[in-house]
Formats: sequence, C-alpha cells, structure tokens
Amino acid sequence: MIKFFEKAPYSPVEYCYDVEEILFKCKSKFQEIMVVKNPYFGKMLILDEVVQLTERDEFFYHEMLVHIAMFAHPNPRKVVVIGGGDGGALREVLKHRTVEKVYFVEIDEEVINISKRFLPTVACSIDDPRVEIKIMDGAEFIIKRNHSDIDVVIIDSTDIIGFARTLFTSDFFNSVKKCLTNNGMFVTHTESLHFHKDMVIEIQETLKSVFQIVDLYTAPIATYPGNWWAFAIASNSLSPREVRHNFDIKTKYYDKEIHLQSFMTPSLYEKLLHKKLEW
Ligand code: SAM
Repeated sequence: MIKFFEKAPYSPVEYCYDVEEILFKCKSKFQEIMVVKNPYFGKMLILDEVVQLTERDEFFYHEMLVHIAMFAHPNPRKVVVIGGGDGGALREVLKHRTVEKVYFVEIDEEVINISKRFLPTVACSIDDPRVEIKIMDGAEFIIKRNHSDIDVVIIDSTDIIGFARTLFTSDFFNSVKKCLTNNGMFVTHTESLHFHKDMVIEIQETLKSVFQIVDLYTAPIATYPGNWWAFAIASNSLSPREVRHNFDIKTKYYDKEIHLQSFMTPSLYEKLLHKKLEW
C-alpha cells in the first residue's frame, strides 16, 4: 500500500498513513490539495502535506470549535466562519436554529469545490440559504467591516504559518473585537498543548491585551500532531464557561458536561500563563 508521510509544521513527530487510493490531487492558487482514502480514517483532506480532517474523527474538532462559543452566547444570530473551506464548522453552526446569517470567508475557493465533491457529509451545509460565501482573506473581511453586529467569529484556518498568519495578530484581534456585539464571542484553534505550548501561551497573551475575558479549552483530536488540541476563546462581557441556552441539537461528542469539563482548571491555567508548566 502507498504511504503518506505528514509533514506538519513545527511538530516533533511525523505521522505515516496507509493510502488505499489517491482520489484527487491538484495545486490551487494557494496550496496543494489532496484527498486520499485511508482504511481506518476514511477520506482525508490534506493541504500542503498537512492533514486537515478525516471522515472518521472530524466531528471532534468541528463540534468543539463551534459549540462552546455558540452555547456560551445567549442568542447567536450572525456568525462569521473564517477558513473552514471543507464546510465542517459551517455544518455545526447551522445546527443552531437561532442563526440567521453566516459569512463564510475562505481564501481558497478550490477547497470548497473539492470538499463538496469528495466530502459530502462534511460539506453538506455550504449551500444553505443563510450562508454568504466570501472568497477572500478573512483578516481583510474583518478589518474592512465597520459594524458591530456579529455575535460569534470562528477561525478554522490552516496552521499558523503562511497566509493564515494574518488571523493571529493583535491588529486582527482588535478588528474582531470591533465587529462583535456586546455579548459577542471569538474562538480560534491554537495548536497542541503537548507540542506547541509556547504558541498557545502567546495567543492567550495577545488576546488578553485586547479582550476582557480570555480562556482556554481543549479537545482530543486523533489526527492533529500532539492530539491534545487547544482552543482560545474570548469575549468582552460573558464567561464562555456557561451554557446559556437549551441543548437542542444532535452532536456526537459535545454536550453540556463536555462544555464545562473541556476548560482548563483555573490553577493549571494560571500555571500555564506564568510558564510554570514544564513539559
Ligand atoms: N480544521 C483544519 C485544521 O485545523 O487543520 C482546518 C481546515 S480548513 C480546510 C482550513 C482552511 O483555512 C483552508 O481551506 C485555507 O484555505 C483556509 N485559510 C487559511 N488562511 C486563511 C485566511 N487568512 N483567510 C481565509 N481562509 C484561510
């Protein structure tokens, strides 16, 4: 069987996957896009030799990226999803009946087209009438926006290198803050607490210089290097640790208990920020 060796940036490991079949491979204007089939994980979306999702475990990441912020917000109606061209985050956002509008801001249109073709269970909500697709850099979209009308901003980008870097600067976070409503929530993935602790801390610190409330929660992701995946969540008024409306959607992993348990304990969080955790 053919092998695919993942070259994930800044990780001390290299993963090797069996490939039953290469279903698609092309070079878009922005990146190399590949869809392969693995006997355990099913179809896998790979961008520039980095695994983005697999059919088998994508729900852990997409549910945890989306629902903590969506349930911490009392009434999320307008949402921005940046990146996430596969449509997985969008699918989860649209499970919330309160949602009236989602701006789906993906820099690479090809990722959307290929996901619709090869990953229909992930890309199933892209054509929902509540979705407005914007093919552009997410930072540009946010910086140009001059109303404070967005309830939740979600970053589902590639790793923090190349064109995704614009989504992790303090200028960008300041612009996010300006476009959020008073109860608005911002959430982003921030790599692995095992392998990328310094990067996780740096993003927390940058967010703290912009938002009143900043927190960290984690989720177990089988296919991201380090597996113990960290998410940063920020807001100006509401703690993200509370569930503020009825749990009335279908999920496989996320639920009210997971919502509360996924946050780092306050003492561990303090130690992390003061760089007293040695691993
Ligand atoms: N869940 C995945 C992960 O963390 O590995 C991310 C999946 S999703 C396919 C990532 C998407 O972010 C890609 O399609 C990429 O084109 C998009 N992206 C990266 N930087 C971006 C930016 N600055 N603006 C908009 N989209 C961006």
